[in-house]
Amino acid sequence: MRRPGPVYLVGAGPGDPELITLKAIRRIREADVILYDRLVNEELLEYANPGAERVYCGKSPGQHAIPQWEIEALLIEHALAGRTVVRLKGGDPLVFGRGAEEALALAERGIPCEIVPGVTSAIGAGAASRIPLTHRDLAASFAVVTGNRCREDAAPVRWDLLAHGVDTLVIYMGIGRLEEIRAELLRHGKAPSTPVALIERGTTDRQRVVTGALEHIHKLAEAMKIGNPALIVVGEVVLVREQLLLLEAQARLAIG
Ligand code: SAH
Repeated sequence: MRRPGPVYLVGAGPGDPELITLKAIRRIREADVILYDRLVNEELLEYANPGAERVYCGKSPGQHAIPQWEIEALLIEHALAGRTVVRLKGGDPLVFGRGAEEALALAERGIPCEIVPGVTSAIGAGAASRIPLTHRDLAASFAVVTGNRCREDAAPVRWDLLAHGVDTLVIYMGIGRLEEIRAELLRHGKAPSTPVALIERGTTDRQRVVTGALEHIHKLAEAMKIGNPALIVVGEVVLVREQLLLLEAQARLAIG
């Protein structure tokens, strides 16, 4: 029997194609077949060998173009045929990326798999929108949280604990449920004036950022038609963005 694989689970970074790692580029170059997701910047496929097969596994919220079991079956099939396989995912493959499920499915078949981390969107979009997730005076902790439960048996999000136990919350997949999330946080005692930022298409040249108080944030999102992919950042650190923008504008005026 031919030696299987190898398979690489690779993080493509948050959107800006320059935010990929050198190791990820090397793995893309080596690949015979690349299975990539919707949030992967397609410019990155230009690193691939022209003869490499490209398989789009895109999912849009609520609908799965290729079901997860089929993606896993494809990874196994290509690996068993002795091909070098890259599974390319937006951000980091293990942060809400189902990378662990794929690594386990491969391991069960004895197929080696290497995981190449990527810049997750919380970190990328935070930097691109000038929001530090931690700050010496404002935030000693941050949490990444899912705003969406796609499987009914999954552990529920503990909004009661998150509302008080963590300083900065970065909520993925939450924009479609912003009203519910806002209501949960307020119900568990988060101050209505807590600053919130919504970051759409963070790090890309189409990035949009909206900021406001928790109390009104759902109305702002609606007015600005904020859509996927987007992150919700909740916490005092959002004020640093305002401060930076103000100081930078003042500096520009002084120079001009
Ligand atoms: N593995 C990815 C997350 C996949 S879940 C990562 O590490 O970033 C998909 C969610 O990620 C989206 O619903 C959105 O909340 C977030 N996301 C991914 N890319 C984003 C971007 N460029 N800007 C804002 N949010 C993004």
